Amino acid sequence: MNWSERSRQAVWHPCTQMKQHAQLPPRAIVSAEGPWLVDDAGHRILDAVSSWWVNLFGHGFAPIREAITDQLGRVDHIMLAGLTHPPVVELSERLGQLTGLGHAFYASDGASATEIALKMSAHSWRNRGLGCKHRFIGLEGGYHGETAGALSVTDIPLFREAYAPLLRLSATLPSPDPRRAAPGVSPEQHLQDCIDALAAHLAEHAHETAAIILEPLVQGAAGMAMHDPAYLVAVRRLCDQHQVHWIADEIAVGFGRTGTLFAHQQAIGPDGVAVKPDFICLSKGLTGGVMPLSAVLTTDAVFQAFWDDRTVHGFLHSHSYTGNPLACRAALAVLDTFAARDAQGLDVLARNREAAAHFHALTEPLRRHPRVKAHRHIGMVWAWDIDVRSDTTEPTFAQRMHRAALDAGLLLRPIGHTLYVMPPYVLSPDDQRFLADGLLTVLDAVLAEVDALPVHTAVPDAIAATAPMA
Ligand SMILES: *Cc1c(COP(=O)(O)O)cnc(C)c1O
Repeated sequence: MNWSERSRQAVWHPCTQMKQHAQLPPRAIVSAEGPWLVDDAGHRILDAVSSWWVNLFGHGFAPIREAITDQLGRVDHIMLAGLTHPPVVELSERLGQLTGLGHAFYASDGASATEIALKMSAHSWRNRGLGCKHRFIGLEGGYHGETAGALSVTDIPLFREAYAPLLRLSATLPSPDPRRAAPGVSPEQHLQDCIDALAAHLAEHAHETAAIILEPLVQGAAGMAMHDPAYLVAVRRLCDQHQVHWIADEIAVGFGRTGTLFAHQQAIGPDGVAVKPDFICLSKGLTGGVMPLSAVLTTDAVFQAFWDDRTVHGFLHSHSYTGNPLACRAALAVLDTFAARDAQGLDVLARNREAAAHFHALTEPLRRHPRVKAHRHIGMVWAWDIDVRSDTTEPTFAQRMHRAALDAGLLLRPIGHTLYVMPPYVLSPDDQRFLADGLLTVLDAVLAEVDALPVHTAVPDAIAATAPMA
């Protein structure tokens, strides 16, 4: 048996209907360098989705590899309760300087960061005698991870439905994604309507609400839905007015993905300064996509709410691998990379602006494609909504695209009818052309395939329209 077959026997793959692996077996990747993966048959595959949005500087990036290797010779892992170590101290200090928040609390994945932020928020109100403030607000299409607490504030039906009885009820408010505007409603009016809906909800429910959680600027799992930073300015104002925390889930959008180091920094308040959330959740790019690590940063006010002689007033949450030294060293190497300038005096964000302009020009044919209904771009994220029939049976458009793209040497995972790329920041001009050409070729081939299918009404719309490539 080859690796792929053995994997189907032994490994339960994430976000996957395992039965479908009979038709589309998992690809076994045996090496990876830069943006390229190599499978066990020697095929090269361009990682156009940064291995699920985590990879920043390509695979095998030397500074990260060297940092981890060096740390392995010092301290591999120790518990963080009652002990500490240099990498976690230094990382926490530097994340504090970069965000203006602090008191970094660590876990190993994004969903755990969401859980920590939700628990910390509600617990901090309770410690202040406001135990009634324990409800949460999420946005339509919001995604914050798939543990039970995180799923409670996630609005992706495909992920939620089976677990609905396990989840805590939370309010889901309209998303400022302009595509959700009702017919005849302008994007500006839709934005205002979303702000008004939040204001109205808070006016009625602030006394029982701990926090609103949202993905600043790009709702990734909703299909790279983008919104105006003005919404975040309004969220800050309304949260202040109503004494509700704002949790910025920067797990996917942090570390330069939207063009600034953190996405919320593009929201400039009335005082001319970028708004600051009460909590920031980080993961994915935090270690450059090499080690599992997440962090939650918060305000002095939240931290102070736990400062007490009584143990039970402390934040007694923990994970065995909290603050893993190897992962922290990887994260420090990432921060060093963002701080460095090249021979031309450019830093990562400036180089990304140049690369993005170049790639954007290459994707012009895609924007003009007759079947592209809408396109979006921010920083290092591009998305195109495709006009696809949804009256066909599975495999879905997204599944067909994934399969055809692999055969063409591209790793893509469309979300429903949205084709997107979120590449590592290290595509060469040749890689960019390969990706842009490949997108167009694969799209045309799959559209021809789907157009030729017989009508089939059995596929629930929810799956056809919103299924992340499952
Ligand atoms: C990926 C993601 C998460 C969950 O992170 P995991 O590490 O997969 O648990 C949470 N929020 C957002 C916005 C994400 O993109």
